[in-house]
Amino acid sequence: MSQILIIYTGGTIGMMSDPVTKVLKPINFEQIMDNVPELEKLNCRIKVHSFDEIIDSSNMNPEIWSELAGLIQSNYHDNDGFVILHGSDTMAYTASALSFMLENLGKPIIFTGSQLPISAIRTDAKENLMTAIEIAKAKKNDRARVPEVCIYFDYKLFRGNRAFKYNSSKFEAFRSPNYPILAESGVHLRFSANDIRLPEDESSLIVHNNLVNDVGVLKLYPGISPKVVENILSADVRGIVMETFGAGNTTTDSWFIDLLKNAIDSGKVILDISQCKVGTVELGRYETSKHLKDIGVANGYDMTFESAVTKMMYLLGQSDDPLQVKEWLETDLRGEITVS
Ligand code: ASP
Repeated sequence: MSQILIIYTGGTIGMMSDPVTKVLKPINFEQIMDNVPELEKLNCRIKVHSFDEIIDSSNMNPEIWSELAGLIQSNYHDNDGFVILHGSDTMAYTASALSFMLENLGKPIIFTGSQLPISAIRTDAKENLMTAIEIAKAKKNDRARVPEVCIYFDYKLFRGNRAFKYNSSKFEAFRSPNYPILAESGVHLRFSANDIRLPEDESSLIVHNNLVNDVGVLKLYPGISPKVVENILSADVRGIVMETFGAGNTTTDSWFIDLLKNAIDSGKVILDISQCKVGTVELGRYETSKHLKDIGVANGYDMTFESAVTKMMYLLGQSDDPLQVKEWLETDLRGEITVS
């Protein structure tokens, strides 16, 4: 019989409305279990680890990511898969971060949560939770069907580092337009085997716990002033995620290019991702991106913002050499980019 570890971090799935203030506040895992007697009927052993402090995921941070990765590492051998209950607001950041932190992953890590609390009559939590467990225990020829860090929400399974929260009101909270879904649940649970990534070496899980959060963000808009750009680029950080226009384009004004070049020459890594949610950065396709390539800006291809920030944190912990970090940023490490 499979064994699944459920890790409860918090989120709406385990919240209840305060009778007086009407504000949603976290409840403990026993109260969640009371709402899903069906859990007993699943053909697997379920263990639960509840975080001491149950949080709204807006309070998520890299220390908790390390704690999560450590928990997975210490329980890896004894469990066939993991289901992580997490608020949907920052779920894509945590899933992306863990995808980088867990190298050679051979078991499913399935994040889920819900838009309505599990105690609500019309809740989406039960389906999300039950199917996430089904996916975490699914095997074929004795091997996990989805040995990846994923997000399961509203009948769809996404690669974690390809998804982002797109809707705060509908049950369809996540999308992953640049990569196909890995499974879909309906009358049958259908896996897209060709899109699922298998580990190169599943013999040994390697956990990288040293994320460095010296990361800044530069989001461009027409009319951005030199002093704003200068302030962001001169901040005491080692990596900058730059959100550009269309296929990775920026203004060609010389003050802008000079500021970027100075930042790169001083040892900072600048990663170009697009403000578009669909499509890819193509450095050099337009005149408005050729200069970026020339001065050494890294190409983020079709990476999500969530993936870009967490990949930068992960890589800054792996090397002090900006050129090495740039090379890895442009390399597909965990299925997070399509290098064209
Ligand atoms: N604010 C909640 C959280 O992210 C939203 C949710 O769980 O859907 O923790």
